[in-house]
Amino acid sequence: MKKIVTFGEIVVEIMALEPGEGFKKAIPLIGPFPSGAPAIFIDQAAKMGQPGGLVSAVGNDDFGALNIERLRRDGVDVSAILVHPTAATGSAFVRYRPDGERDFIFNIRHSACSAIGLTADAEKLIESADHLHIMGSALFSDGIVAAIHEATVRIKARGGTVSFDPNIRKEMLDLPGMRQALAHALENTDLFMPSGAEIFLFTKATEEKAAVDELLARGIKAVVIKRGAEGASYFDRAGEVFSPAFKVEEVDPTGAGDSFGAAFVTCWLRGMEPAAALRIANAAGARAVSVKGPMEGTSTMAEIEAFLEAQGASA
Ligand code: ADP
Repeated sequence: MKKIVTFGEIVVEIMALEPGEGFKKAIPLIGPFPSGAPAIFIDQAAKMGQPGGLVSAVGNDDFGALNIERLRRDGVDVSAILVHPTAATGSAFVRYRPDGERDFIFNIRHSACSAIGLTADAEKLIESADHLHIMGSALFSDGIVAAIHEATVRIKARGGTVSFDPNIRKEMLDLPGMRQALAHALENTDLFMPSGAEIFLFTKATEEKAAVDELLARGIKAVVIKRGAEGASYFDRAGEVFSPAFKVEEVDPTGAGDSFGAAFVTCWLRGMEPAAALRIANAAGARAVSVKGPMEGTSTMAEIEAFLEAQGASA
């Protein structure tokens, strides 16, 4: 089976119990929950039985141990997660506003995550991988940008594949080196997975079909557009497939895109038809939004199959 490698932050998430605005007053919190988009991604893939590892870093503290234990338990290769001797594990505080928007306080760049780079263990993991998944939000330091660049070159040189989820906020585009790093990722991408209007950050075209055609003409094999509560679309040179989302109560949207992405990449690496892969990925996304906690809603294949059966759809 093909092995996936991805890079990026591991954090603990601390969540406000009640909706509201910001953190300027004392409020009840729950957590710590294991989190970080790349960690959620690789956890979801491993739970489906796909071999995969994460190049990351945590502190030598309980938050780091919590994350490593969860990932290891779920089958992730944790050999390239560095345990930093002095810096603390990254953290993210989140509070939902009544309108569904979220307020975040991130401590990532100045945490142990700043040490993520091309360590000897990372090189070994890259060597063992067939597929690289790049997350735009993980491109937050020179060390990680350089490591992802190197992994892209090595994995492509030996015939491996690359998927890319930009997962990027507009203000991140102005970080030094970000545009070049995104351009290099896109140039080498086989499977591109933006959310909604994110695609237009990468194209001259301003209409969706034209934007997709522009990317396919540049050599990308397939584009998957995530559409939140509406579902997702797949495009390649043969055409387009749309698959509607499943109707569930949205409790916590954090991690839905990462769970969807990992389920889709896993199915794609297994050679599954796009319609079936979208259905499974939509199921993973729906399960993720219906559970509180960023990584608490990742699913095994058996859980996805049971969900699909309960919804009257088959895998
Ligand atoms: P991102 O978090 O990357 O922006 P989306 O919000 O588009 O990603 O969510 C990813 C996928 O998760 C969707 O394509 C869909 O399959 C599923 N999903 C998201 N929100 C819901 C929801 N409210 N109900 C059911 N499925 C959802």
